[in-house]
Amino acid sequence: MLDLTYPFDDQTQVWPNNPSFHRDSTQRGGTATEAWYATGQVALSEHAGTHMDAPIHFAQGQAGIDGIPVEQLMGPAVVIDVRAAAADDRDYRLSISDIHRWEANHGAIPPGAIVMMLTGWGAYWNDRERYFGSATPENPTTLHFPGFSKEVAELLVSERRISGIGIDTPSIDYGPSQDFVVHRIVNAAGLYGLENVAGLAEVPASGATLLALPMKIAGGTGAPVRIIALLPSRDGR
Ligand SMILES: [Zn+2]
Repeated sequence: MLDLTYPFDDQTQVWPNNPSFHRDSTQRGGTATEAWYATGQVALSEHAGTHMDAPIHFAQGQAGIDGIPVEQLMGPAVVIDVRAAAADDRDYRLSISDIHRWEANHGAIPPGAIVMMLTGWGAYWNDRERYFGSATPENPTTLHFPGFSKEVAELLVSERRISGIGIDTPSIDYGPSQDFVVHRIVNAAGLYGLENVAGLAEVPASGATLLALPMKIAGGTGAPVRIIALLPSRDGR
């Protein structure tokens, strides 16, 4: 099993102008005379760090994070590796031919799949300017990083039966997007997006199963999510 989740800490990346993740903690005792006690409290955006975008995020009337059926929170992992293309073009968008190439090698995208785009952006997680592709990462009109394309989003929601999509960058829409069209298409279809996914390079292109379990915030537009990949066993069972 692999954990595809970044820790929530001072390094946690958040969308431009969103509040940072914040934690206060208290601890005492642990001595011969006093028993140990520790507690803490956190504050965070629904879209901080490794998180799930609920359908309601960009589609009025669709499910909040607590309304997504649990069956939809797990599915076959489809990992589409575009690291080479993204290294050449930081604004690279996943193409229809990338989907067809994956399907030529691994068969049709299976029903219930969670389609993950592997760009290699995890290497920049601790460098905000590089991760967001901007010297002014608080200005959301200056961002550069790879994402899904409108055409692929339309194909996945209309011609495949998927559970959701995910990516190892700050957004399922590429950095320069100002209309967030991928969000709109995916969310309007009742599907979710996973953003800032960690460790995706360790997941095989096909054969793994993903579990993506978000915090159950009533009406939440998104939530921190723990993503786990169950890898196929070596003997194929
Ligand atoms: Zn989000």
